[in-house]
Amino acid sequence: MGHSHALTGAGLWLLAAPALAVVPEIGGPAAGLAPVVYGMLSPAELVAGAVVCAGAAMLPDLDHPHSTIAQTFGPATWVLSKVVNWLSGGHRHMTHSLFFVVAAGVGAHLLADHYPIGRDIMVVLLIGLALRAVGIGVPQRTIMSAMVNIGLTAGTFLFFHSRGVGYMWLGLAVAVGCLAHVVGDCLTERGCPVLWPLKHKWLLPWNMGLKTGRRFEVKILGPVLSVVVVGLLAARLIPVM
Ligand SMILES: [Zn+2]
Repeated sequence: MGHSHALTGAGLWLLAAPALAVVPEIGGPAAGLAPVVYGMLSPAELVAGAVVCAGAAMLPDLDHPHSTIAQTFGPATWVLSKVVNWLSGGHRHMTHSLFFVVAAGVGAHLLADHYPIGRDIMVVLLIGLALRAVGIGVPQRTIMSAMVNIGLTAGTFLFFHSRGVGYMWLGLAVAVGCLAHVVGDCLTERGCPVLWPLKHKWLLPWNMGLKTGRRFEVKILGPVLSVVVVGLLAARLIPVM
């Protein structure tokens, strides 16, 4: 389900970002990552990263035109999702693989580095997906939901802009988010073609498969993930404020 993916994405980012930010200072081969994440992230960038990462954790399911997230921006995201579905060969194919994790990350990084307009479109899309995933929207009211989402997304984007958020970390956040989704889906009953184009579906932990949308997810997993994300956010931000 959407919010589990979004929350794991945000959580994984908050766990990983501070460690990644110090990589260039350590030196060695890993310092090659320096253009990707240089220096420490500002608090606003850390938060923006968590939101973007939560949105990126929804990207793989854009291969499903009937999913809620495909309605995020109304017809615009529906058409996008039709295209993604066609390109990836259906639901839970190419977009649920390590190939997609790397391709989306590299693509987002290239946008961040060379094409400011493309980068802004990507950031806006990801903010919208994140908001939609955590339940922003009006049930049964597709157009209304899209309007609400567009307004809130624009507000969030402008807020990040006003805080001077840079996007050199965009590729990394997108890759982390997509990875969180693929791993999450591998824990559910059907698994993912992790090594696409190989067709084998990977299932963790070896066929114990959790079921999506069941009470466990709504009553336990969702609340636990929310607490973890809020806790991590507090732990990261309070020392610097
Ligand atoms: Zn999925």
